[in-house]
This record gives sequence, C-alpha cells and structure tokens, in this order.
Amino acid sequence: MFGPPGAGKGTQAALMVEKYNFRHVSTGDLLRHEIQARTELGKLAAELIEKGNLVPDEVVEEMILGELEAHPDVKGFIFDGFPRTVAQAECLDKMLEKRGEEITGVISIVIDDATVRDRIHHRAMIEDRKDDMDDATITTRILNYHKKTEPLIAYYKERDKYNEIYGVGSIKNIFTRISRLVDKTLKG
Ligand code: AMP
Repeated sequence: MFGPPGAGKGTQAALMVEKYNFRHVSTGDLLRHEIQARTELGKLAAELIEKGNLVPDEVVEEMILGELEAHPDVKGFIFDGFPRTVAQAECLDKMLEKRGEEITGVISIVIDDATVRDRIHHRAMIEDRKDDMDDATITTRILNYHKKTEPLIAYYKERDKYNEIYGVGSIKNIFTRISRLVDKTLKG
C-alpha cells in the first residue's frame, strides 16, 4: 500500500486482511509499538516521528526482515508505509528475492496535499498520534513524502508493478476499487 500520510492505507489494509487473509505489516504501527514499550529504538523513533522525519532505513528494514522471518507460511503480506525510500525498496526486493518471492503489485492511493491535511486533522480527533497534532510536523511529513517517497512511483512503474486508485470517496467505495484491482492482479 502506497500513498501520502492520511491516504487511508491502514484503513484499507485492514479491510484487505479481512477479505483476502493477508498479513498486514505497518512499519508505523511497529514503531509506535516500540515507543509505547519505551525501548531504546522507541526513544530514537519518537524524536524523529514527532518532528515528521523518517526513521533510518536500516531500522525499518530490520523490522520487515523480522516479520518475514517470523511468518514464513502466510498467504501474503500487505506492506503499509513501507518502503518509503528507494533504498528501502531495493532492500525489500533483495530480501524477497532471497526467499524466491517478489512484490506482486503496488496499490497507490492518490489524494492531494489539501486532502492529506484534512484527513490528518480529522484523525487527530480520533487517534492519539503526536505527529498528527502539529501543523509544522504535518508539513514536514508531506514534504518528505514528495521528496523521498514519491520517487518510488517511477521505481515501481519501471518494474510494471504500479497501480493507482483514486483515494477520495467513502471507505467502502475505495475498497471496492482496491478489491477489483487485487482480484485482477491475483488472477494474473
Ligand atoms: P505511518 O504510521 O506510516 O504514517 O508512520 C508514522 C511515522 O513513522 C512516519 O512519519 C515516519 O516517521 C515513521 N515511519 C513509518 N514507516 C517508515 C518507513 N518505512 N521509513 C521511515 N520512517 C517510517
């Protein structure tokens, strides 16, 4: 699942888990877990996340490797919020290749920056995320998305893995769009 912060990746991933029985892996959730558990990694992550910056590639790559190793028998993974840099994408390709696997497809949820802000402001009233509370942090996250994450669009287009879904509409309608795409992709 690919897209800017607030695009609805997590919401849609949860629906995909129900329908397709894939395993959902969100690096953001894993990092928030570390923060709650007050681990050393959590302390490092909290500082970066609260300012809207990305955590180092090696940190999230290690987390993903742990997930792959811990769940060798799943039907499939939904990666949500990972990869977020070209270096992470290259690392993921290598990790999967070693296992004789590859990315099946990228689902990119497209919304504009103004909608990103609206969605995050709305989420701030529901979830207790420090990085959703502050406008400067939200701006940094949007800038980081354009600068560091958006280059992945070209990366996956070159590999013929990239699919776009328009991300405005009801949760149900967007899920219908995603399901159509997943069904088509799984059929090959
Ligand atoms: P998310 O829940 O996906 O919005 O992630 C929340 C925050 O965690 C992001 O703003 C980043 O600071 C950090 N984060 C999550 N995933 C990654 C990743 N793949 N690479 C670097 N930082 C990440």
